[in-house]
Amino acid sequence: MNPIRPTIPLDGQGKAHGFLRLPYSRNDSAWGSVMIPLTVIANGQGPTALLTGGNHGDEYEGPIALQQLAWELEPEQVSGRIIILPYMNYPAFRAGTRVSPIDQVNMNRAFPGRADGTPSQKIANYINDVLVPLADIVLDYHSGGKTLDFLPYAAAHYLDNKDQQTKCVEAVKAFGAPYSMMMLEIDAVGMFDTAVESQGKTFVTTELGGGGTATASSAQIAIKGARNMLRHAGILSGEPERSESVMLDMPGDDCFHFATRDGLLHPLVDLGAEVVAGQPIARIWSNDRSGVEPVEVCANRDGLLAARHFPGLVQSGDCLAVLAIRVD
Ligand code: ZN
Repeated sequence: MNPIRPTIPLDGQGKAHGFLRLPYSRNDSAWGSVMIPLTVIANGQGPTALLTGGNHGDEYEGPIALQQLAWELEPEQVSGRIIILPYMNYPAFRAGTRVSPIDQVNMNRAFPGRADGTPSQKIANYINDVLVPLADIVLDYHSGGKTLDFLPYAAAHYLDNKDQQTKCVEAVKAFGAPYSMMMLEIDAVGMFDTAVESQGKTFVTTELGGGGTATASSAQIAIKGARNMLRHAGILSGEPERSESVMLDMPGDDCFHFATRDGLLHPLVDLGAEVVAGQPIARIWSNDRSGVEPVEVCANRDGLLAARHFPGLVQSGDCLAVLAIRVD
């Protein structure tokens, strides 16, 4: 039995701010808890949206947008219910790290979680078993965190259920980020995305920037996107604010480029640049001597640079670049 309990009712009317309280006994607090912020805004009949940020603790557009919505939205504006978790992996968010400092668990590889597991596994399990079943539509915000940087996009996945996939793609288009992606995952096992999709829900994820910070424009994209998606779902009134979005696809594993040595990263193209197969996109210079020829990383295929490694130093195995193709 999962020990997490909400401090506010999930089925109340009006607007309430509280916590998911996760008991966590430790040296500095014998009967202590992890208090994960939670807002529920509900009014009358209608669909339920679950909006989550802080799945990774060093990605900030989602938390910013969800704080703004939790503050601003009033029940009178809502038909149905909005459940907001701005800092899903709260210990990771507080530490400013991708994975939780308590158990070193990457929340987005921990689904469907474990009721008897570590703190991150318990949070994942509660979200999977209690919150997702309440939802009709789920938006989970991501960005690149400290080690990646992305073109700002909302994304859907290819799904076996094509009706469900169409609903996800429509919601991604409604979100209205500058780019919209059909995303291929390197490793989909344990992802929140996969867990939500397997429950048949409409799911939107994002990658809205990175580098372990947010910008004015990436924060604005996140806020506008959530409002648009809630309008699309019929939870907020009005039509989504339509703006031009470039449709992208990641057609195969050859979109990903990985470093094969440690060194100093020398980018040769920036995000959004169009490249052709074989074109050098980065060099990796020796990190311990001068006068040594760099390793050149060449594009595996034609495409547009959708993501790149962010820090100036790379390690062998790091994801250096991700290419996507335009779909017209
Ligand atoms: Zn993330």
